[in-house]
Amino acid sequence: MEGEPMGRQRARLGSLERLVQNYSHCAECGARLHFNYYTDFSLNTTHEKASCPECGIEARKLMHRLQ
Ligand SMILES: [Zn+2]
Repeated sequence: MEGEPMGRQRARLGSLERLVQNYSHCAECGARLHFNYYTDFSLNTTHEKASCPECGIEARKLMHRLQ
């Protein structure tokens, strides 16, 4: 607290937090998203599903195709 470069540290931390926040928090209300992973065996793909517990928004993302 005394003479520490908190401002600079915070700025660096802040940009990192924003990057993480874009991915892990709801774009609508900013709540922390819940993640689920599931595999579609008919398509041999693994999906990630993110849902917001606050506003119910859902986002799905294809993670990777199984070999
Ligand atoms: Zn939300």
